[in-house]
Amino acid sequence: MQHSPKSAFFQYLAQTSPSPMALEIDSAEGNYLTDRSGKRYLDLIAGISVCNIGHQHPAVIAAIEKQIHRHLHVMVYGEVVQNSQSAYGEMLVQYLPPSLNSVYFTNSGAEAIDAAMKLAKRATGKFGFVAQENSYHGSTQAPLSLMSDPYYTDPYKPLLGPVYFIKQNQTDQLDTIPWKNIAAIIIELVQAENGTTPAQIEYIQRIQELCILNHVLLVFDEIQTGFGRTGSLFAFEQYNVVPDILVLGKALGGGMPMGAIVARKELMQQFASNPILGHITTFGGHPVSAAAGKAAMQVLIDADLKKSVASKANLFRELLVHPRITSIQGMGLLMSVGLSSFDEVLQVIPKFIEKGVFTDWFLFANNRFRICPPLTITENEIRTCCQIILSVLDEMSK
Ligand code: PLP
Repeated sequence: MQHSPKSAFFQYLAQTSPSPMALEIDSAEGNYLTDRSGKRYLDLIAGISVCNIGHQHPAVIAAIEKQIHRHLHVMVYGEVVQNSQSAYGEMLVQYLPPSLNSVYFTNSGAEAIDAAMKLAKRATGKFGFVAQENSYHGSTQAPLSLMSDPYYTDPYKPLLGPVYFIKQNQTDQLDTIPWKNIAAIIIELVQAENGTTPAQIEYIQRIQELCILNHVLLVFDEIQTGFGRTGSLFAFEQYNVVPDILVLGKALGGGMPMGAIVARKELMQQFASNPILGHITTFGGHPVSAAAGKAAMQVLIDADLKKSVASKANLFRELLVHPRITSIQGMGLLMSVGLSSFDEVLQVIPKFIEKGVFTDWFLFANNRFRICPPLTITENEIRTCCQIILSVLDEMSK
């Protein structure tokens, strides 16, 4: 007898938490998810900053269909010319500063972070790293080394290192780092899983000075902040600082799996010699993902979706006023709402979901819930979902 999808999920799929949300998604379109009973949910998560142009965009579906009729996987990354990969690489470079002119596609964000760390070791001959407390860069062992919370890392030690952790925006702490031993500093300009906390400009500019002074590579992890989410195509544009390595993922693939690092050509060439095959990957830059990603980026640019991000974010901030809300923070549509405790967040989220608003909490800020919708969310949808959020908070106060 075949199990229902939900019972097969619990019986046959490995779980990563004791009580998964287990909402049964049947389909997704635009800014909504639909469950098996036909109930619709306004999506305030966007697949964790993946679905920036909404779900099932016709241009993305058409690009995927076109590509699947030409070819699927043919060869590992880097050995044969695959039109959709080359075309997407060219497009990305066209929208980046001149020093970010070479793209290496991977399967995921974690693999891209791993590749960035390897490249930094090759380029500098050093092996120390600096990362921020409460940043998340992925779950495989290289990015896990950059995670500060021992609850998540201790069971997997030894990891890579040494890794020195700094607190976001604590510029003074930067002087305590032994920079001469550091290959790279890895920075999220908005610490997404810390509850969407933005970096200050002076702090980032000081980091860049120290990198230049000490031959340290500056790596920006724009896996969540990329592709319009913060109001510019990439968040670094708002800091006036160009990294040595830009790490991309999530929205990069337009809903298909993909990651990438982007750096200057001479730096990236380290992977091609002494030893050759410095980083290789079977499925990295999968042709279908590349076709989907390029189509999604084209939609983002043609519709100029980043233009309305600030006003949409402001509308959320204006409407979400309630005695139970302690703060709203973030940059653009990478936002979070603070309540007084994790317990409170745990109580309200099922009620939001019951009323058709899909959100969740953060890895390192469990007293906050997420407001990171597709950038295509409309003013009316924002008004409706804020009403629902406020009504649930009112009910809690009764
Ligand atoms: N970096 C950031 C900022 C992330 O949010 C994530 C995933 O949530 C990653 C890296 C890892 O990406 P992936 O899950 O594709 O390995």
